[in-house]
Amino acid sequence: MTASIEWDKLGFSYLQTDCHIRYTWRDGKWDEGRLETEPYLNLHIAATCLHYGQAAFEGLKAFTCKDGKIRAFRADMNARRMAMTARRICMAEVPETLFLDAVRRVVDANRRFVPPYGTGGSLYVRPLLIGSGPQIGVNPSGEYTFIMMVLPVGAYYKGGLKPVRAVVLDDYDRAAPQGTGHVKIGGNYAASLQPHLLAHDQGYPVELYLDAREHRYVEEFGTSNFIGITKDGRYVTPKSPSILASVTNDSLQQIARDLGLPVEVRPVLFSEVKEFAEVAACGTAVVITPVNEIVRNGESIRVGPADGCGPTLEKLYRRMTGIQYGEIADTHGWCMEI
Ligand SMILES: *Cc1c(COP(=O)(O)O)cnc(C)c1O
Repeated sequence: MTASIEWDKLGFSYLQTDCHIRYTWRDGKWDEGRLETEPYLNLHIAATCLHYGQAAFEGLKAFTCKDGKIRAFRADMNARRMAMTARRICMAEVPETLFLDAVRRVVDANRRFVPPYGTGGSLYVRPLLIGSGPQIGVNPSGEYTFIMMVLPVGAYYKGGLKPVRAVVLDDYDRAAPQGTGHVKIGGNYAASLQPHLLAHDQGYPVELYLDAREHRYVEEFGTSNFIGITKDGRYVTPKSPSILASVTNDSLQQIARDLGLPVEVRPVLFSEVKEFAEVAACGTAVVITPVNEIVRNGESIRVGPADGCGPTLEKLYRRMTGIQYGEIADTHGWCMEI
């Protein structure tokens, strides 16, 4: 039975599907996991995720490909990143094999919610790892819950890639140099809400963060990495210990190399931004969001075409989504059939 969803009307918002998968870690080991139909947890009121922020998440997608098969994109990278996050906030690690098994089981159980090929949609997979045991002193939990939920999401761009304006808010930092910016924890997002709303109220859909120490180097956007394309066609992306290493950025770098573009991962001065021919934000949700203007202290920097996407970013975007939908050969073994 297919789900009665108007695929072309889907956005990026919560929608209940048939089930999620849930595992519990107790006494040093993970259980077998269970598909749960009710989207509620019976959680202890002293759980460490509620009080002390032991909560990590991930985001990846599964696609119905041109050949009709469903494939998840680079789930192994998300598994490894979540393990790294778990270590940083002292949570039980989810082994990669368990993580990949969870992806297969939960996507398979919700096949009717995977948007059909041609709609531009995908099944968004949201893994969540939380400290669920009671603990009132500040210490790691003795119990962990690993959840993977899925929901169908629509094509972000109905027409061509649409550029957005970004703002630098010098009164806020995203992540300290030796803090937790490089791991995907809920607390980073709680801290980003205030500047995000401020940026939004000023008419900017995204905010760009500079390094917390000096505010001289570009770090990343609120929820996505920064990419600049130079006038002579080099792919440049910032290197910093407080950036969240994006799977999308890693993939686009590889695609850029495949297309013969030099790739530079290095510190990027904010003063260099005006030299870029094209700038974009990149992440799983949208792949690429072209950025055509960056404003800091009322001063505006314009980059790329005013009303569309630059040619290099457009090419990278086409290739990336082509691989995800099985239209272009998956030469790097990124797609896992479900
Ligand atoms: C999740 C996230 C990204 C994007 O990572 P992808 O793996 O490409 O989805 C970028 N920056 C931050 C801060 C993030 O949390």
